[in-house]
Amino acid sequence: MTVMEKLAFKEDMISPGISACIGCNVELTLRTVMKILGPNTVFAVPPGCMGGVGVVGWNKQSGAKPPVFFPLLDNTASMLAGIRLGYNAQGRTDINVVAFAGDGATVDAGFQALSGAAERGDRILYICYDNEGYMNTGYQRSSSTSKWAWTSTTPVNASGGGGKRQHKKDFPVIMAMHDIPYMATASPAYIPDLVAKVEKAMSVTEGLAYIHIYNPCLTGWGIPSDQSIEAARKAVQSRYFPLFESSRRKIRITRKVKEPIPVKAYIQASKKFRHLDDEQIQELQELTDERYRFLEAMEQVSQEG
Ligand code: SF4
Repeated sequence: MTVMEKLAFKEDMISPGISACIGCNVELTLRTVMKILGPNTVFAVPPGCMGGVGVVGWNKQSGAKPPVFFPLLDNTASMLAGIRLGYNAQGRTDINVVAFAGDGATVDAGFQALSGAAERGDRILYICYDNEGYMNTGYQRSSSTSKWAWTSTTPVNASGGGGKRQHKKDFPVIMAMHDIPYMATASPAYIPDLVAKVEKAMSVTEGLAYIHIYNPCLTGWGIPSDQSIEAARKAVQSRYFPLFESSRRKIRITRKVKEPIPVKAYIQASKKFRHLDDEQIQELQELTDERYRFLEAMEQVSQEG
């Protein structure tokens, strides 16, 4: 039986009818992840798209079958660390204690709590769905937003000038360098790879596991809903978002892209990049090439070590 066939027979842990945008690949990602985690899970969904679309719910009713709670943007990892200690005290080490948080709650506001939990070795699984900004509150930029992208707080003027002025934070590498037992990047366009990485993360018995999933946002980026998965796939095929994993700083690229498509072929699917000139596109291409070379070098060092 293939991974996709096995998934089809697993119980959906999220109710039907949550209010994500049509075709949203974050909803697909959450349903897939929760099928793997199963009912023996407590999870935290801080403010962001998945909190907003009804997964957390209101009035003691939620869109999730397992217990779910709604931490603040900045304390998700520390609340989960406390929950883990509580279950440990009861001898319940079998419970999955999991965050499903957007990039705003992870790379910006929640970074201090996450970094602290990683350094202490709290046994939690932290999953970040990276849609490059605060999409739930009106498409504001985060430190995970790509350079030159339009957002509502990095507008573009009539002559095409503007957009975000800083490069996207290389957050998966930052987490890998925390010396944690497992770190991985994943994509909704490569579900079997995502499933394998969630299973590996679940097998961690000491320390924090982190998975960073790249989720192009249809509404905030201006992508047609039928291009949801294709946009995610092109991000990987262009090396803009490489798929790799690490254990205790040892890096392995899990999907080697030998003949990448141009970054231009990836970004042209999104209206948020529509104003870019050739020089700006070239800058994104060079950054992509440089970051991929850096990963390859880290992989090489890991193999030598
Ligand atoms: S705003 Fe984007 S990430 Fe949020 S639910 Fe809609 S498509 Fe999904």
